[in-house]
Amino acid sequence: MSIADAEFVQAEIAENGLAAAKPQLPPGVVTEGPLVEAKLRESYLLLGILYVGAVAGITWAVTQGLGKVEIAVFVGMFALTTFGIGAGMHRLFVHRSFRCGPVMRTFFCVIAQMAVQGSIAKWVANHRRHHLYADDAGDPHSPQYDGFGNRYVSALKGFLHAQGSWVFDQATTDNEYYAKDILADPIAMFFVRTRWVWYVMSAVFIPGVFGYAFGGLHTMIGCVLFSGLFRAYLLILVSQLTGSVCHAYGYRRFEVDDASTNEFVTTILTFGEGLHNNHHRFPRDAYISHAWWEIDLNGLIILGLEKVGLVHDVFHASHRQLERTSEARAQTASTAR
Ligand SMILES: [Zn+2]
Ligand SMILES: [Zn+2]
Repeated sequence: MSIADAEFVQAEIAENGLAAAKPQLPPGVVTEGPLVEAKLRESYLLLGILYVGAVAGITWAVTQGLGKVEIAVFVGMFALTTFGIGAGMHRLFVHRSFRCGPVMRTFFCVIAQMAVQGSIAKWVANHRRHHLYADDAGDPHSPQYDGFGNRYVSALKGFLHAQGSWVFDQATTDNEYYAKDILADPIAMFFVRTRWVWYVMSAVFIPGVFGYAFGGLHTMIGCVLFSGLFRAYLLILVSQLTGSVCHAYGYRRFEVDDASTNEFVTTILTFGEGLHNNHHRFPRDAYISHAWWEIDLNGLIILGLEKVGLVHDVFHASHRQLERTSEARAQTASTAR
């Protein structure tokens, strides 16, 4: 908070009493009106369906058992959508860590929306706000602050907020403020508008088709409930570990001014996103491992796609070195003048 802001808050307190001493939220945070209503509608509808679907999926697995087809579809779809959220949604659309042509961009849109975690525009806007105000008032899903910028006293409440309940609070992000580039991208916006089609493709249609083709009606039901609906819900829980566990537990390679950490189990489950302290230190890197034992599978796949020419302009450590060198040269030149 700046001195001017602090003085303003003090003046408000003097005039209106302590009730006015609310935390100042940064621009682009919306706490009432149609954007909040739209957020809550989508959160309740989507998670309502997934809660019921996940319970049905577990019940089916326990009572009917799972065959090879159900497990193969579960693993295949989990891997595809984990890569979709990590490499597509996070590294390509939020951080622009690499570039690609329209066909690959379309592919990344498909697998990002198939992760069933809200629209590309909303995800990008929320995550950019997370980086800008990480573990401070204005972070949409910090274990330290609620959606309105109030500090959590209870560690458990903070953890639960970061691990999921933030999607049900009355605060949301203005996409016009944080995701202008996505709103101006016709390919991404086609997928934003048709996102429910891709949710259904991911959680119902594709698992159902594989189940029916390789095992018949009984396998089809198992695939939809367990490998589709339960898997989609499980992926949401796993993705949110980077906001909860990786802002509270684990080790820090870099001293940054937020609480981000690297955490081993989350790193394995998310294909590398759990190297979250490395990521907060260098948010634009496409490959975020800094040691041989920090396994960043998403980053390795992106580097592989670069090798075969499907993506280009991949941003990584060597580019930072180049940037530093050219900055140093510019500084030397300006001092010499
Ligand atoms: Zn973070
Ligand atoms: Zn990020």
